[in-house]
Amino acid sequence: MTEKKRILVVGAGAAGFMAAITAARRGAKVTILEHMNFTARKIEHTGNGKCNFTNRNQGKFYYYDENCELIENILEEFSFDDTIDFFEGIGLVPKERNGYFYPLSNQASAVSALLRMEAEHLQIKIACNINIIKIEKQEKLFKVYTDGYVYEGQSLIIAAGSKAAPATGSDGSGYKLAKELGHHINGPYPALVSLKCSGKEINTLSGLRNYGGVRLLIDGVQKAYDEGEIQFIKSGISGIPVFQVSRYASKVLNSSVNKNKHSVTVEIDFIPMYTEQQLLNFFHKRLENNSYKNLTAFLTGFLNEKIISVIAFKLGIKGNISVDSFTDEQWNNICHTLKNIDFNITGTGDFAQAQVCCGGVLTDEVNEQLESKLIKDLYFAGEILDVDGKCGGYNLQWAWSSGFVAGKYASQI
Ligand SMILES: Cc1cc2nc3c(=O)[nH]c(=O)nc-3n(C[C@H](O)[C@H](O)[C@H](O)COP(=O)(O)OP(=O)(O)OC[C@H]3O[C@@H](n4cnc5c(N)ncnc54)[C@H](O)[C@@H]3O)c2cc1C
Repeated sequence: MTEKKRILVVGAGAAGFMAAITAARRGAKVTILEHMNFTARKIEHTGNGKCNFTNRNQGKFYYYDENCELIENILEEFSFDDTIDFFEGIGLVPKERNGYFYPLSNQASAVSALLRMEAEHLQIKIACNINIIKIEKQEKLFKVYTDGYVYEGQSLIIAAGSKAAPATGSDGSGYKLAKELGHHINGPYPALVSLKCSGKEINTLSGLRNYGGVRLLIDGVQKAYDEGEIQFIKSGISGIPVFQVSRYASKVLNSSVNKNKHSVTVEIDFIPMYTEQQLLNFFHKRLENNSYKNLTAFLTGFLNEKIISVIAFKLGIKGNISVDSFTDEQWNNICHTLKNIDFNITGTGDFAQAQVCCGGVLTDEVNEQLESKLIKDLYFAGEILDVDGKCGGYNLQWAWSSGFVAGKYASQI
């Protein structure tokens, strides 16, 4: 009887579990080394505790990395359909909402529990509280030196996450391991995170949640745009459309190379459903019954009072003037400002507030099987790689797909 291939996986998160399960199903003897005294903790925080584990709409458009071809290949090798099959196979009943998938039980903890059950069923050994001191490759064997023991494996998969949400165990120590093995790291910077803004107007808006468009500009050039519910917080903005554009701001504002060299602004469009001309037409129509009112009264019922007060302040319009007396230029300015209120971005939330990181192990340094081009039989999976996805189940999809690919090829004899 041939001996089973021994595989070590660093990190018991989404990608680590998927890699381990995939390898064990292919006959390998798998040990996961986890430095916390718990496993899969980050999964339990996902999707506001409900775990948006994938999305029906897939494609490279939803992921960021220069190396788009690699992402596409990985997502093809373990697709959205494969993800649904896999989770149904381990007992999860999926529920869809506008393309976003969650467990029917609405519990993220169900996803981590099912992964643990499957790992146990496959006799995957999970060693917790492991402090990895050093990794060496001697001949064809990886030796992982820990405080008390040296673990050995013919393949090693590093799936140690990023620096986002460090309390879940994803504290950036995986990057250190990758570096010691000769790999290079981009960044990392917090992403899917809130943005800090300067200016008096932002504090007037604090507490407001309003649908709108968020346009992010670097040195006046648009880099990203997204629409949804914007949350105005103390000295900043948050919410999904802000998260979606945040990575571009983060890469400039949190990088020691780029810092203070570029201007980062957002323009908020409070009426994305109308063009400026349509908005103007709407106001002209509204004047028929409301021309005796001042600006605040005229906009009441259409816009939140905080937005009205910011517009009046920005345009220097006094409260005692009736809209009847406004010039065409003033109406144009009102429409333009409502669709382009700009804020200077001074920073981002930190790693503890970020859902993911942009940056990580350079994808040029791995092949299409996610094997290191520097060290044979070393693989990477999940967020440790320089790939980040949009909000909407894409980061977990990357963890599942890359975990599957790394586990599959690492277990090949
Ligand atoms: C609040 C929040 C909400 C989110 N919501 C969603 C969502 O709804 N949908 C979605 O798609 N994505 C979501 N994400 C992102 C998603 O959770 C991550 O992208 C994904 O979990 C990354 O998986 P991973 O396995 O690469 O890393 P992780 O899940 O971070 O796992 C890494 C594991 O490695 C361990 N580890 C780290 N360093 C070492 C070391 N040196 N030695 C041993 N072990 C180590 C860690 O303790 C951890 O267990 C969310 C993230 C957060 C923080």
